[in-house]
Amino acid sequence: MSRLRELKKAKNETKNNSMIWLVAGIVVLLGIGSALFLFSGSSNSGNSSELNTAGLSFPLVNVHWHATPIVNVCGENKPIPVAPVTDHLLHTHEDRLIHIEGTVNSPEQITLGRFFGLVGVKFSSTQLLDKTNGDVCENTGQPGKVSMTVNGVPSEEFENHVVRHGETIIVSFD
Ligand SMILES: [Zn+2]
Ligand SMILES: [Zn+2]
Repeated sequence: MSRLRELKKAKNETKNNSMIWLVAGIVVLLGIGSALFLFSGSSNSGNSSELNTAGLSFPLVNVHWHATPIVNVCGENKPIPVAPVTDHLLHTHEDRLIHIEGTVNSPEQITLGRFFGLVGVKFSSTQLLDKTNGDVCENTGQPGKVSMTVNGVPSEEFENHVVRHGETIIVSFD
């Protein structure tokens, strides 16, 4: 092989090599692109994207958590009904605490809304027990609305709040 041909060959190899890297780069970019697409797609679909799961990773294996729910309507605390246990994963007892017992596979299973639904307390951002936003509180003579705090911090999550161990959750209408 002449020197010139060898040089040409070497040049071609570099060319081929850079082609390989270019193709590999495109493949990687396509991979990242589709992963991002799938990710954004999945976070836009379904209810779970609205749930704040910060600090939690699912499944939560074999937990036994307790949280304290307080329902206050127009300045008066209303006891949580001691409903019979229909779902051992999420229930209450005479202590009227939120009990989360077992393996939790998704945040939907342990939302505040689900708990109140199971024990028969009507609760959303617009309703608490028999009160709907705009209804007048007898004690103040003023229209009230639903609000909530978690460990003393105001929250806008309402029924979508994912309950965590040790929380004190106050839902109020006033
Ligand atoms: Zn318990
Ligand atoms: Zn229990």
